[in-house]
Amino acid sequence: MADQCLFCRIVRREIPATLVAETEDCVAFRDINPQAPVHVLVVPRQHIASLNDATDAHLVGRLAIVAAEIAEREGIADAGYRTVINTNGDAGQTVFHIHLHLLGGRRLGWPPG
Ligand code: AMP
Ligand code: ZN
Repeated sequence: MADQCLFCRIVRREIPATLVAETEDCVAFRDINPQAPVHVLVVPRQHIASLNDATDAHLVGRLAIVAAEIAEREGIADAGYRTVINTNGDAGQTVFHIHLHLLGGRRLGWPPG
């Protein structure tokens, strides 16, 4: 399962991605189809299919902390940004390796579609 997982393969550097951060537990890279001037995905190194499968509160929290650090570095922390974890079909999850989207650099509509 994790063998063929797209984001596991990015974590293992088998597939290229534009990395923006690497920590002991997480990797962050730019979304290939950005929906905002800043669109970064933060993923755990460990394969977890979705938030439904997450049990490690520290690791899930780390995704948000790493996103906040990237937002600061990208210069969008003060203006504002959004962090999103899509889970399963109704939310439009397409890659089943948990990831947190960091979106910013423009005014974001609410509610989301
Ligand atoms: P989600 O729909 O929440 O599962 O988000 C999956 C995201 O992964 C989408 O925003 C895609 O654009 C992005 N994505 C898919 N393939 C790649 C890739 N090879 N490198 C970077 N981002 C990707
Ligand atoms: Zn994976």
